[in-house]
Amino acid sequence: MSKNQNCMMNEERDLHNEESSIESEVKKKWEEMGLKEDLLRGIWAKGFDEPSYVQQRAIMPCLEGRDVIIQAQSGTGKTATFAVSTLQKVDPQLKECQAIILAPTRELAQQICEVIASLSQFMGIKCHDFIGGIPLSRDCRVIKESRVQVAVGTPGRMLRLIRGINTNDQILNTSHVKLLVIDEADEMLKEDFQIKEFFNFLEGDFQVILSSATMPAEVLDQAKKFMNDPLEILVKKEHLTLDGIRQFYINVKKEKYKLETFEDLYDAIATGQSIIFVNTKEKLNQLHHDLKLDDFAVSTIHSDQEQNERKDILDEFRTGKSRILLSTDILGRGIDIQQVSLVVNYDLPVQKRIEEYIHRVGRGGRYGRKGVVINFVTDEDMWLLNKIEKHYNTNIDALPSDLKEITMART
Ligand code: ADP
Ligand code: MG
Repeated sequence: MSKNQNCMMNEERDLHNEESSIESEVKKKWEEMGLKEDLLRGIWAKGFDEPSYVQQRAIMPCLEGRDVIIQAQSGTGKTATFAVSTLQKVDPQLKECQAIILAPTRELAQQICEVIASLSQFMGIKCHDFIGGIPLSRDCRVIKESRVQVAVGTPGRMLRLIRGINTNDQILNTSHVKLLVIDEADEMLKEDFQIKEFFNFLEGDFQVILSSATMPAEVLDQAKKFMNDPLEILVKKEHLTLDGIRQFYINVKKEKYKLETFEDLYDAIATGQSIIFVNTKEKLNQLHHDLKLDDFAVSTIHSDQEQNERKDILDEFRTGKSRILLSTDILGRGIDIQQVSLVVNYDLPVQKRIEEYIHRVGRGGRYGRKGVVINFVTDEDMWLLNKIEKHYNTNIDALPSDLKEITMART
């Protein structure tokens, strides 16, 4: 693809006449992608009748072996974009690890692994998630006994497996790895995640795919250093909004009025499933405590919980046993729970993490469903709300007093 075409892709392709050459590369149907028969069956079994916008555009370049940076709005199917590409590339006969997929949280790694397991159910490909909080010995056993072909994991644990413990003995043999996928790439490329190390430890030629809803310019520049002439499939920031999501704010005036505002809202929101975002663990615990005292039933999830506990809480929420989940930004990224129709920002994300807004909001309104977000704003935070509106070129209206209207928007 020429540079010129590349640019046009960045421009989000609304200009029909200039675009035909790109559009000819768009595959509107799964059958046109030349996928393996048993992978197609898996895709259909999952109910993915047609590829989504980003899948139509990004899967083919991934299959062609190019390094690709995929940036598209939350909830548009980026996981299946890289999952299908990965599964098409993995040789089911070769019982060695051929692809590594990295994600910033344990939950997300598990979720990606489930998507891959489901898409590959007719392929006989072994996928496993390697995450912190689980004894390393168990991972070693899995690797020894089951010949993992796709490894999905969090960076810390994956590095231990690749580096070995004290010596250069790799636990996971990476000599057949031909694909490295990094989900939530902007988060992952922040220094603390040591992504560089993966590039040091993996040998030979391998393809790199990055995926995220947000990709600040400086992260993009850094990413390109690790990549070989990457093709960027970028959706401009303005397009990253929030189609299908209705956004409101409530001016609670002062921090101390947030609790009663929340309790007033509760009846309206408890009918659907909602996630409430709070900025810190301490505040989350306090809120949970206060709500319990007042007999409100909510579950909470945060990073101090044991892995199993977090999984149980998410499962309960996924299956609808619990309906309101309090969360820190741990859940902001990637987690896909289709029924979530309302997101409440009990706290607005802080300015230097403003992009968390889109990730949080993205938890509602998955795959084109309608969602609602309600932002609690103190007088002091009004400027931040304005900043968010400007940043995303979007409008956030005051919540109308007639809540019914909002509740209806949820169906
Ligand atoms: P994101 O782009 O935020 O990573 P996900 O990959 O988590 O989005 O996908 C969001 C939702 O869309 C998931 O519930 C997924 O099952 C669904 N989905 C993805 N691709 C398709 C498709 N082609 N057809 C129908 N649903 C899809
Ligand atoms: Mg995702």
